[in-house]
Amino acid sequence: MQSYFTPADQSPRQPALPGHLPAAGGVARPRPKAVVIGSGFGGLAAAIRLSCKGYQVEVFEKLDAPGGRAYVWRQDGFTFDAGPTIVTAPNMFEELWALCGRRLQDDVTLLPINPFYRIRFDDGTHFDYSSDPVAMRAQIAAIAPADLAGYDRFVKEAEVCYRLGFEKLGSVAYDTLGSLLKAVPQLLRMRGWRSLHTMVASHMKHPKLRMAFSLQSLLIGGNPFSVTCVYSLINALERRYGVHWAMGGTGSLVQGMVKLLAARGVPVHLNTEVRRITIDDGRARGVELANGERVRADLVVSNGDTAWTYRHLVERQHRPYWTDARIERKAYSMSLFVWYFGTKQQYPDVPHHLMVLGPRYEGLLKDIFKHHHLPEDFSLYLHRPTASDPSMAPAGHDAFYVLAPVPHLDSGTDWESKAEPFRLAVQQRLETTVMPGLGEHIVSSRVTTPQDFQDRLLSYKGAAFGMEPLLVQSAYFRPHNASEDVRGLFMVGASTHPGAGVPGVLMSAKALETVVPHAHKFVCN
Ligand SMILES: Cc1cc2nc3c(=O)[nH]c(=O)nc-3n(C[C@H](O)[C@H](O)[C@H](O)COP(=O)(O)OP(=O)(O)OC[C@H]3O[C@@H](n4cnc5c(N)ncnc54)[C@H](O)[C@@H]3O)c2cc1C
Repeated sequence: MQSYFTPADQSPRQPALPGHLPAAGGVARPRPKAVVIGSGFGGLAAAIRLSCKGYQVEVFEKLDAPGGRAYVWRQDGFTFDAGPTIVTAPNMFEELWALCGRRLQDDVTLLPINPFYRIRFDDGTHFDYSSDPVAMRAQIAAIAPADLAGYDRFVKEAEVCYRLGFEKLGSVAYDTLGSLLKAVPQLLRMRGWRSLHTMVASHMKHPKLRMAFSLQSLLIGGNPFSVTCVYSLINALERRYGVHWAMGGTGSLVQGMVKLLAARGVPVHLNTEVRRITIDDGRARGVELANGERVRADLVVSNGDTAWTYRHLVERQHRPYWTDARIERKAYSMSLFVWYFGTKQQYPDVPHHLMVLGPRYEGLLKDIFKHHHLPEDFSLYLHRPTASDPSMAPAGHDAFYVLAPVPHLDSGTDWESKAEPFRLAVQQRLETTVMPGLGEHIVSSRVTTPQDFQDRLLSYKGAAFGMEPLLVQSAYFRPHNASEDVRGLFMVGASTHPGAGVPGVLMSAKALETVVPHAHKFVCN
């Protein structure tokens, strides 16, 4: 087995949990053992919660560092967060730290970003999105004063979706039809059958505002034209808690969680791929690693992509529900092309988060999500962490990533040959919009394509956000936290309820907790 991961700045190591549960009235018994496959935010949060519930936990990670989509690339003196950069629910991290008897602010500094992000429309005008009601009204009035009243109505409705959709329903494990039925009144109140764009359009008429208030679902892999309007909760979530930057990069949150685990005696084994979940008599008994070693466990939690987990880690005879045909029938979210680059020149006019929208909106998303066709045009999200945190690049330099939503691998694109022409097209688009002369200043560069999402992160069809968050693939209709097929097998992360995005996967770990008994009550049935 590969070496254990020990964070560089590990605080004085607290004693690991004793291997036995305290004896209640006499005989002590060994702690039940949980194996977590994958160290994405969902996997790390699950490991923390299970450890706090008394389980002896081990995490196995295929890559050489923890974080999954929140992996960190370091090259040429730059630090590139591979994935999440917009931290929206600090309270969910605080909750995990508090569970471990610590304070988040002792380990990670979160910096509020204001405005949250700039949206640049194709005609060169822009909209600064923030939680400041006065600034927001001024921005809206500059585009369409007639939409101000509609904006107020939208804000109220988004609040309702936040309270019902996130606070009440977010951390429920929809494992039974009964749990779904209980949620029906809330879904009706939110009129959750409408798409996010339909809901926004019912309040605001101007196409620019309709874009500005619906594109947030793309951050969690949802097409605003088909994702349920419940996702307007993102707007409320951002307004309530703000948008934050973790100093040192999102990777510092990952490191912080690994440190919490280390202090609890939970190892994260890196470079350790799980090849198979061992199942006997319909019950998960542990995992088999790529090197052939078997690890026994009382329960197994997969933070890997759910479709991939069932398709490749669970043998066919053990999955009457998650058959190959059912996995194939599901709709998968878009993928992403991400270009990480460093420049020797700084671009002070580029804010921390910038959406550079293209000429098309609905048509572009239809090409990507429905036709699985790689379009010629694109809308981009440009990330410039050095706007808030100079530690991400050598002095006088800027670190960036730019991402373009693209179809998943059903597009048939040969990314090996397409990656460089696509990157160049993105570079040219940036040069003609917000970064003139970019080509002359690049000193560091790397890309991630849908093929990498499949081959490196083991995501089915190379989807960047797991199964598409359609209403028919949500809650009860999303892969359950407690496997439909195998006892003792659990799922956590973007492919489970409530879905992708850092708050979503942290919530899924909370939902998982509701279907796993406390270690004292664990019975291996
Ligand atoms: C480019 C990008 C930008 C994003 N931006 C944001 C943002 O700004 N804000 C936000 O909230 N969300 C954002 N997201 C979404 C968010 O990052 C993800 O939804 C979330 O991080 C997924 O976490 P997860 O727990 O599902 O696990 P993942 O991050 O998918 O990690 C799963 C882990 O499991 C490991 N694994 C899989 N199979 C095995 C195996 N067989 N054996 C061992 N290990 C295995 C993988 O290597 C991986 O490390 C972004 C996503 C991307 C891709």
